[in-house]
Amino acid sequence: MAKATHDLLVVGGGMVGATFAVAAARAGLRVALIDREAPAALEAAPFDGRASAIAYSSHRLLATIGVWPHLAGHAQAITDIRVSDGESRLFLHFDHRELGDQPMGFMVENRFIRRALFAAATALPTLDFRAPATLTALDRGAVLVEATLDGGERIAAPLAIDASGRNSALRRQAKIDVVEWTYPQTAIVCTVAHERPHRGVAHERFLPAGPFAILPLPGDRSSLVWTERQDLAPTILALDERAFAHEMRRRFGDFLGAVRVEGPRWSYPLAVHHAHRYIADRLALIGDAAHGIHPIAGQGVNLGFRDAAALAEVLVDAMRLGLDVGAAPALETYERWRRFDNTVLIAVTDSLNRLFANDIAPIRLARDLGLAAVNEIPPLKRFFMAHARGTVGKLPRLLEGVAL
Ligand SMILES: Cc1cc2nc3c(=O)[nH]c(=O)nc-3n(C[C@H](O)[C@H](O)[C@H](O)COP(=O)(O)OP(=O)(O)OC[C@H]3O[C@@H](n4cnc5c(N)ncnc54)[C@H](O)[C@@H]3O)c2cc1C
Repeated sequence: MAKATHDLLVVGGGMVGATFAVAAARAGLRVALIDREAPAALEAAPFDGRASAIAYSSHRLLATIGVWPHLAGHAQAITDIRVSDGESRLFLHFDHRELGDQPMGFMVENRFIRRALFAAATALPTLDFRAPATLTALDRGAVLVEATLDGGERIAAPLAIDASGRNSALRRQAKIDVVEWTYPQTAIVCTVAHERPHRGVAHERFLPAGPFAILPLPGDRSSLVWTERQDLAPTILALDERAFAHEMRRRFGDFLGAVRVEGPRWSYPLAVHHAHRYIADRLALIGDAAHGIHPIAGQGVNLGFRDAAALAEVLVDAMRLGLDVGAAPALETYERWRRFDNTVLIAVTDSLNRLFANDIAPIRLARDLGLAAVNEIPPLKRFFMAHARGTVGKLPRLLEGVAL
């Protein structure tokens, strides 16, 4: 096998893979990052209606690796979160001031996050960013992996990081099984413009078909993640603009004045998947390649950011000790750390979805009383708020705002 050309090969420059690559390269590892999408297409990408809730701790990670300054003017702080159940008058209100000055998180359009990551990636001399480039083969040997790209080029490194998303071919090739299940739900995603300001408040409304989330964007706009019954969603998605807007308003209400849909509608069948292992010989999985959760808590990419930060930390520590970054001990530390944390969140989001999608009267009453009770018990409320901000558990240093 050839000599190593890099310390790490990252396959997939989505939000998670690119974050990992920037974090590792800033700390001195020589990283090759490949993605099949051309950065030029991303630069020119118009508004497409897809946005993510970035938890406060994920924002600290992006700030510490120099990505956040590229997002100036594109991030909307989430100051409050209001959770309500259908028509019930009982609710739960999280006000960031109960925890301090900092917001719960930020809403940012995905295209801006990816652009900011690419801007940070191209400025790093230790990051060899190749795109558009597709991985066509990966040989994993005893001491090195050797990748072949579609242009015939070869990259050799002691470790490959699979950040290629939900349908990862590398995961299949490594014979890592996933546990998966689907929900009879589809998420309809779109952006709306409204007459009155949202004041940074995110709303999570539990309707019988599933959660209806209204998430504040810069300006008088919000991103909607509207969970609908799987059998009904195609009919709603096929409605003309007027009828679609009418259905949207029935759920949205008029608390922000007149509302209109802006840009395209997207839909995602909702499912969970979780890899049995996050590692194999000279391979580590991060982000959606390892797990995917229900978007009920807006945590999917945040879990991926935690994987990226934890793996970067473990590998940079190994490099500084002069150890082989692709050897089993470092990878096992990463797997133990992240798989447990992700398993807990998958279970919690799954239970929440099942609890709130249930329309049986006593269950509805019990959960409404539960919401109202949490609202009145400050320590319990602060506990949930800390979870939403992503500041609970053993955080990787980057999520604490500490450079590697
Ligand atoms: C409806 C919905 C709403 C959501 N909202 C939120 C939210 O508010 N907050 C949140 O935290 N999360 C949210 N999520 C989840 C979040 O979008 C995903 O977890 C996240 O995008 C995963 O990022 P990733 O980088 O792991 O994978 P991906 O985004 O899938 O990136 C994979 C990359 O790998 C590249 N690639 C694949 N194969 C190859 C190859 N062979 N060679 C080269 N390149 C390759 C692809 O081009 C792609 O760029 C939501 C999800 C859904 C469905």
